[in-house]
Order: sequence, then structure tokens, then C-alpha cells
Amino acid sequence: MKAHDAMYIGGQWRPAAGRDTIAVVNPADEQVIGHVPAGTAEDVDAAVRAARDAFAGWAATPPAERAAKIAALRDVLVARKDEIAETVTAELGSPPPFSQMVHAGVPIAVAGSYAELAATYSFEAKVGNSTVLLEPVGVVGAITPWNYPLHQIVAKVAPALAAGCTVVLKPAEDTPLTAQLFAEAVEEAGIPAGVFNLVTGLGPVAGQALAEHEGVDLVSFTGSTAVGKQIGATAGAAVKRVALELGGKSANVILPSADLAKAVGAGIANVMANSGQTCSAWTRMLVHEDQYDEAVAIAATAVAKYSVGDRVGPLVNAKQQARVRGYIEKGIEEGARVVAGGPEVPLDTGYYVAPTVFADVTPDMTIAQEEIFGPVVSILKYADEAQALRIANGTVYGLAGAVWAADEAEAVAFARRMDTGQVDINGGRFNPLAPFGGYKQSGVGRELGAHGLSEYLQTKSLQF
Ligand code: NAD
Repeated sequence: MKAHDAMYIGGQWRPAAGRDTIAVVNPADEQVIGHVPAGTAEDVDAAVRAARDAFAGWAATPPAERAAKIAALRDVLVARKDEIAETVTAELGSPPPFSQMVHAGVPIAVAGSYAELAATYSFEAKVGNSTVLLEPVGVVGAITPWNYPLHQIVAKVAPALAAGCTVVLKPAEDTPLTAQLFAEAVEEAGIPAGVFNLVTGLGPVAGQALAEHEGVDLVSFTGSTAVGKQIGATAGAAVKRVALELGGKSANVILPSADLAKAVGAGIANVMANSGQTCSAWTRMLVHEDQYDEAVAIAATAVAKYSVGDRVGPLVNAKQQARVRGYIEKGIEEGARVVAGGPEVPLDTGYYVAPTVFADVTPDMTIAQEEIFGPVVSILKYADEAQALRIANGTVYGLAGAVWAADEAEAVAFARRMDTGQVDINGGRFNPLAPFGGYKQSGVGRELGAHGLSEYLQTKSLQF
């Protein structure tokens, strides 16, 4: 696996200021596959300066030209799709078909959507006797996690570039090779020097330096709620804009009229994808008491198809593996019933966790409240719709969810009452143009589509 011993700053691969490095480990076999530099505040400062220097020129570049550069970037991602998928599989451990389809495929779709939006978006609007100009916010500090390593980068960088902002990216320490590959793609696409800059490094060092840097105008962060709160506080103290995509504990609400087998099967598939390391995963399945035993049996059969090492990859690192196994133990301790999987490590090598289904889960249990971030589904029981809604809305999170019913209008009526940013109706497909983001502690701001673009714009009103 190719690793650069350098940062991408001001259009060049430059040596890091310090000598420390981060080892990148393949979570499937626990082997080190490369090293990248562990950036310091000095590297962050150089990158922010490069982004600042490039800002005026990029902001003044006509949107159609910015659009053409983003389209070129999309084309490079298409040309290097196999390499992207292989890199994500190597450092995240996701099964190759999922890496191809989702980890490489979705960022291509998102980059394409912003190439189009940059060309067609109205950066000016008339309001009475005023003209409202939508101008780029400035230098963006982007901090991304490891679970969808390229998607989370593209979901920030593509709209930022479309808006006319310049970017410094600090990717997750577990998946820096995908970020380096992205920087190569930026260079290959002919995006001007300094418009995109990459500093690899540790969160509390390089990440914190970026979030605190006074030359950064907007911090866009995806990751844990704990770090998000810290970044929000830092940004607030500096009166700096901030976008936060945080955790989730989404509900999959199966109403009594729904096709039970389909809804349960889709719910299991949703959580098993990416080994459960998806912030929007429907980790709480809500089933009517009359259908509960049947749903549990269907779930146990469905999860048996997710063979470890083949359809379900490892977790990203040993710490996450231990954390998820700890949650499974906690579930058992608090009285939930394991119907599949459990805390035992399923393979001798690799950070695997057994696909696990819990029944008899009550809404107050830890496993029903906290984000587990692993292949673990909890099945909860409700007596009526009012109780289903209370359970669905009964966590600090509000990122996503699903509703199933025979009648679409019945599902929509329920979805309207959910405190959450996205709801899939009867298995609705992913839409790269639909705004994605959280209610409550799942975050602030939206990504994707025109809503995602507007995060990177500020308004100026001219009166006539
Ligand atoms: P994290 O929040 O620690 O890391 C996310 C990013 O923030 C990484 O790039 C990290 O280096 C950086 N970071 C860490 N500390 C920082 C700091 N003090 N200042 C600035 N940047 C900092 O998340 P994690 O440790 O990778 O995962 C832990 C948990 O977070 C997971 O179990 C899961 O619950 C959650 N998570 C959520 C998402 C999501 O998409 N919502 C993604 C990944 C992880």
C-alpha cells in the first residue's frame, strides 16, 4: 500500500515539521501496511497559510470553472476506483464488494453532484430592493473520521470547493492512506495549489490545532459527540462557524401493517453493512408486541447469513473491538437476551466482533441508549404507536431512522413525528442530494446537496 512520508500543502508533498509517525494497520490481519507523518501545530499552521493564500484566487474563480475542476476530480476518482476500494479495504477492513460499491462509489456520486451544483447554483438572489450575494465563508478546517473515509472527505471538500472556500483536511489516524490518495486525485485534477491541503496526524494534536487555528473560518467535523462538543465550544469561543456530524442511535420502526420479513431483513442488513460502523445505522428495531416473537426469529435467521470475515469485516481497531464487546457484555448484564452472536471473539486474528442480535431490550438499557458502533441490533417491543414514538424519540440522538407500513401515508405520518434528520420510508434508497445531518445531539448543520453547499456560504445584502 502506497504511503507518502509527507503532507500535501500548497500543491506540494512536503516533509512534516516533526519526525513522529502513525502506523497504519490492516484490521483484518493486524499487519502494519504503512506509516504516515504525525502532524503538529506547525504543519497545521503551514497548511492554513497555504489555504489562506489560495483563497482570494479560488473565491474569484467563476463557478463554472470551479465546477469543471470538481468534475475533473470526480473523473480521477472514477479512474482510480479500484485503487480507492483496495485502500479502504486495507485500512478499514470492509469487504471488497462494499468498498467498491459504497466507499468508492458514493464519493464519486457526491463529487459529481457538486460539479453540477457548482455550475447551476444561484450565488445571487433578489429580495425586494436588495441583492443578496452568497459568498464563500473562507478557509475550512475539515476533520473526518475513519468509518466512511473517502465519503466523509468528499462530503466536506466538494461543497467547500464548489462554494469557493479553500480547505485544510485532518483525516482520521486509522485511515490516512485513503486521504493521501484523495490528495493525489486533487493534484491530478489540476485544482490550484493551496485550494486543498492535507495534514495527517492525531486528533488531540493536529486536529485540535486545526480547530483552534485563528486562520480557520469554519470547522466542519464528523466524529464522536464527545469530541464534537469540545470542537463546538472552541469554535463558539472564537465566534467561528462550525458544522458537526455526530453520533446516532436510530430507530427502525416496523408498524403492524408492514411486511415484517422485509422490514426485519432490511434492518439487519442496514446494521451489518460496514460492520455496524455507520452513524446513521438503525440499531434499534421497534416491533409491535403481537409480532415480537416472529420478528426475533426472522432476525436470528437473517443475521446467520452474515458470515464473519466474508460478509462482515472487522472493526477498525482493537480499541473499537473491545468497546463493542464491552457493550455486548453490558447488554447481557442488564438483562437483554442474546439471540445471535455474543461477546466471544469469532476469529483468532483480526478485530472481529460476532454479528449480534439482542431481544428483550428495554428503552432504558445502555445498549438502547448509547451508540455502539458495531454489528449489534437491539429489538424493542411496543404496545401502540404512541409508545413506539416515545421509544423512537427517547435518546439524546436524532440522526436517521426508518418507518415501515403497508400504506406509505401511514409511514410518512409517523416519520413526521420523529425527532430525526433523515427517515427512510419502506426501504427508501440513498439520495446523494438529500440533506444529511442530525437533530438534537447528532449535530449541527447539514451535508450533501444544496443544503450541504449552503453551509460553506455566507450572505451579504446590497440595498438599492
Ligand atoms: P473521534 O471523534 O475521536 O475522531 C474523529 C476525528 O476527530 C478524527 O479525525 C480524530 O483524529 C479527530 N479528533 C479526535 N480528538 C480530537 C480533538 N480533541 N480535536 C480535534 N480533532 C480531534 O472518533 P473516533 O475515536 O474515531 O470514534 C469514536 C466513536 O465516535 C465511535 O465509536 C462512534 O461512536 C463515533 N463516531 C461517529 C462517527 C459519525 O459519523 N457520526 C464517525 C466515527 C466515529
